[in-house]
Amino acid sequence: MDTLKSDVTICGRPIDDYIKQVVDFHGSFAPGMLLGGFMVEHARRNLSPEILFDSICETSHCLPDAVQLLTPCSIGNGWLKIIDVGRFAIALYDKHSGNGVRVHLDHRRLESWGEIKSWFLRLKPKHEQSRERLMDEMLRAGVSVLGIARISIQKEFLEHRHGAPIALCPACGEAYPSEHGARCRACLGALPYKV
Ligand SMILES: [Zn+2]
Repeated sequence: MDTLKSDVTICGRPIDDYIKQVVDFHGSFAPGMLLGGFMVEHARRNLSPEILFDSICETSHCLPDAVQLLTPCSIGNGWLKIIDVGRFAIALYDKHSGNGVRVHLDHRRLESWGEIKSWFLRLKPKHEQSRERLMDEMLRAGVSVLGIARISIQKEFLEHRHGAPIALCPACGEAYPSEHGARCRACLGALPYKV
């Protein structure tokens, strides 16, 4: 990945350090992780540095790992939620007020970035794409291909539900939150496997 060596930083980290961390955590250096790094940086720069923030990823691809590497938010600590509507976007917001920003990759800003456009909109088969050109364009484009907007999270979503009552499922016998209904969601077919 020598071609990527440059003075670019992601959230204050030299690009080489970020790439190494991505490979360790994510398994390989996917283009979406590079763009995801710029997205997290752009969102953080547009939030007050003092606030404690939570995050939402609008896709399960790449972006959750960029958020987990570059912020204190993780799936496990509950500060990162994935709501997979299939859009390449993240939101960071004040966990108390719900005010924050949403950053997305804006296809209208890709006219002069042919490789990014082809990759994002899947305009040509993978074997015809040049990974080197794609990475080079992403590094040069940086945050210029991103759209940003202010958001305000709905109150109900901000309320934490730690103390919800537990029921025992009459079908499988396991414990689950009673607010899910008369049976656990697994017994209603939510899982892709049977025990
Ligand atoms: Zn059950």
